[in-house]
Amino acid sequence: MKKTLIVIDMQNDFISSALGTKEAQAIVPNVKKKIKEYEARGDEIIFTQDTHYENYLETNEGKHLPVEHCIINTNGWEIADGLEVEKCQYIHKPTFGWMHWDWNDYSFKEVELVGLCTDICVVSNALILKATYPNANITVDASCCAGVTPESHKAALTTMKMCQINVIGE
Ligand SMILES: [Zn+2]
Repeated sequence: MKKTLIVIDMQNDFISSALGTKEAQAIVPNVKKKIKEYEARGDEIIFTQDTHYENYLETNEGKHLPVEHCIINTNGWEIADGLEVEKCQYIHKPTFGWMHWDWNDYSFKEVELVGLCTDICVVSNALILKATYPNANITVDASCCAGVTPESHKAALTTMKMCQINVIGE
């Protein structure tokens, strides 16, 4: 059965730059290992990239979080070194959750999410995927995710479990 790994926003600004945390830095080797496993099996891998523009501070997100990050084509917007995979999809995502997981009659059966931040973009996309594909098995590997704080990371994992998303790696 086709398996899909979705790597959420593993971008420099969320790891080492504007909004980086030591928790985000700590998961990079785990995420790298996970990507290699999917690559070795020939499974599908999709990356998302949080994508903003010069007007970020005037956007609604910018008013709530006045820290410029992931401005398109800057180093902070790039996927962290060593994680990128050739020949896979890179989704430039303007909002926390991507609203087009059903594009091209896309069908997801086994989906695993990893990346940043557990409590914002991972939970948003996991819940959108669950709503779009209620019969899909959706898994989040907690050892490959980090939140804005360790507490909000845990709270998001609890929310996802309540919504029948499999949480592994705790
Ligand atoms: Zn953002």
